[in-house]
Amino acid sequence: MVNVDGRLSGEREAVVSVFDHGFLFGEGVYEVMRTYHHRPFLFEPHMRRLRASAERIALPIATTDAEIGARVAATIEAAQLPGEAYIRLLVTRGVGEIGYDPSLCPAPTIVVIVKPHVELPAAVYADGVKIALVSVVRNHPSSVNPIIKSNNLLNNALASQEAQRRGAAEALMKNHRGEICECAMSNIFLVTKGVLRTPPVDAGILAGVTRAFVMDLAGKAGIPTREDVLREEDLASADEAFFTSTTREIVPVSRVDDLVIGGGKPGPITTQLRGLFRAAIHAD
Ligand code: PLP
Repeated sequence: MVNVDGRLSGEREAVVSVFDHGFLFGEGVYEVMRTYHHRPFLFEPHMRRLRASAERIALPIATTDAEIGARVAATIEAAQLPGEAYIRLLVTRGVGEIGYDPSLCPAPTIVVIVKPHVELPAAVYADGVKIALVSVVRNHPSSVNPIIKSNNLLNNALASQEAQRRGAAEALMKNHRGEICECAMSNIFLVTKGVLRTPPVDAGILAGVTRAFVMDLAGKAGIPTREDVLREEDLASADEAFFTSTTREIVPVSRVDDLVIGGGKPGPITTQLRGLFRAAIHAD
């Protein structure tokens, strides 16, 4: 089910103009949310990030969070899904004459896509996955800053393609300084000697909503947590690794290419955090 500027339609009928600057120039921002108990999880932080992303591309969004929330709810309702929902919320520059002047587009286009949330196989969480350290470098923060959750996803798509060719579930990327920064669709965490470590936002990453949620859970559980510059050699000395995202939660990493992490099985802190995450969802 798709909602385009407040109008509901099925996936085949949903249309956006080819003169939308989202299509023409990739000018737009987005969020991916999911439901637990049929309600969008962490809606407020997702909306805060959407507005922060929009501000960074000078895209005014006059529609209130309440109105956007109502559109999301109406789209979920209309989709009549048997289980939980995947929600993609996109805001583009809107329709206008071809050109970069933002004043060519009088109003943004707001799209909500709702489809069934697909759980990853249980084996992914039980055994962990292989990821690949790819050659595609993450955008320089002075280019399209990775902190903007933008529809300009070519950098991520190219990194993912490389990982896919190498039989990996995710693409781990380095930044322009050669530090480990994040994956194509998720944030990376390592556990080294009992300390949970993840690259700082100024390494050039998306400030993941799940990343913040997991860091908060870790803090409350008394797990020492640090935002640290991470380098390739830190992978070899890591006892555990996992990546986080809204749709995939906490996924243990058992291998980075040929490097086996933590004996190739999810480690105790990863398992503990996963348990805390599941408990927090059920308490919500
Ligand atoms: N980093 C990138 C590049 C992403 O595309 C995503 C999510 O899709 C994430 C990190 C994880 O963010 P979140 O936890 O907010 O879903």
